[in-house]
Parts: sequence; structure tokens; C-alpha cells
Amino acid sequence: MPYRLHDLFERNRQWAREVEAERPGFFTKLLAQQEPQYLWIGCADSRVPANEILGLLPGDVFVHRNVANVVVHSDLNALSVMQYAIDQLHVRHLIVVGHYGCGGVTAALHDRRVGLADNWLRHVKDVRHKHRAFLDRLPDDARRLAALCELNVLEQSLNACETTVVQDAWSRGQVVVVHGWVYGLHNGLLEDLEMTVRGPGEVAAAYDRALAAIHLRGGASALAAQASAAQAGAAPAAPFSEAPCAALAAPAVRPAPGAA
Ligand SMILES: [Zn+2]
Repeated sequence: MPYRLHDLFERNRQWAREVEAERPGFFTKLLAQQEPQYLWIGCADSRVPANEILGLLPGDVFVHRNVANVVVHSDLNALSVMQYAIDQLHVRHLIVVGHYGCGGVTAALHDRRVGLADNWLRHVKDVRHKHRAFLDRLPDDARRLAALCELNVLEQSLNACETTVVQDAWSRGQVVVVHGWVYGLHNGLLEDLEMTVRGPGEVAAAYDRALAAIHLRGGASALAAQASAAQAGAAPAAPFSEAPCAALAAPAVRPAPGAA
């Protein structure tokens, strides 16, 4: 087994050559300063790389990632990233990005022991407990997992809004918009959960609106629909809620890669 990882260095040099060929002077310009507009707080999952998903180059997005994209008020790592990005780099958008099929959320949902990370995932279990009544009403585990992935984004976005970093920025009139998004591993697409907040006066209404939409969807993401169908050995079921709402159909209709 090669242990010096020469292939990665070769890939790196090839990538740098291609970027420089397409954009002469790209790296020397970045050397002078970085001016990212976006702070991405996402899951550490290797399938959810911020720059690639957004189609952005180095210098465009400031990134913090951890298991299950958790924002904890006592996490000095995340808080320091947020403080530096907002106070020093003046990012205008803080985006909490979860993803369907998240391993950390799955472990929290099923009380699965994974080791030291169990302690970290307690924060996701708190989300599960907070929304237990809704989750228990969903028809199967695939729906519950999809819904908990969305709920986790919602709660971590709320936590981001409530940090002293964001609150202080808003109180001095700095533009910082907090967003909550979820990414589909199955189709490479981001979805906006509509937890979009521009100031303290918008937090509660945005939270309530996003939560109502999550309740209406009932975990009916395309990925959950596929998993449910596989479990049942039948075609994807209808969305959980019977309430008439256009939001019901939207998340479940995108085909998976390779599907007709
Ligand atoms: Zn994850």
C-alpha cells in the first residue's frame, strides 16, 4: 500500500495548473486577501463538500464542518469560525447545510452507538426528543430520518441565530442572513428549508414557517420515498400529510441520478 500519497500530490499539481491556466494570476490574487460572501456550516460527510456543491472556487466560501452540522453555543471552534467570518471577513450569508441520509442523524434517530461521537450526537438527539410527537406519527423510518435531517438543520439554524456572534452583528446593523438548507446525496441538489433570517425580529416567524413546511412534507424527500418504496417493495408512497399544499409534492418529484 502506498503510504506517501504521491497520487494526491499529482492530483493537486494538475488541479493548480488547470486553475491557473483558466484564470491566470488566480492564486497570487488570493494571496493578497480573501473576501468570501458565504459561511458554510455543514456536515463533515465526504459526500458534501461545500465548494464543489456550490460550484465555487477557493476564496469564495468560508467553511466549518462537523459531524451532523451541529451549532452548539459552547462550541468554541464553531463560534470562533463564525466570529472571524462575520466580524473580520464580513460574510453576508451564514448557511447551515444538512443532508439527507446523514450518518450522524441516523445514529441519533436509532440510538446507535458509534463511540465518542455519541456525546456530540446528543445534540441531535435533543432535536429528536423535541420533535418526538411529530416523528412518531410518520409512517416509516425513512420518512423519520428525512424529517429529522430537516429538523436538525432547522434547530441548528435557530442556534446560529441565537449566538452572541450573530446577535451582536445584527444589533450593530451588519447584514448577516442566516439560511437553513438540505442537500440531496441522491441528486446533488440543495433545497431551501425557508429558515431565512435577516434579523432578530424574523427568527420566530421564519422558524414557525419552516417547521410548518417540514410537518407538511412529513419526511417525503425523494431519498426517503425511494427508501420507503424499497422497504415496502412498492412504488413511492404519497406524502404523509393529507393537507392540500403545493409544498407536499415539491421535494418528492426529482428523480434520482440515472432514473428515467
Ligand atoms: Zn452527515
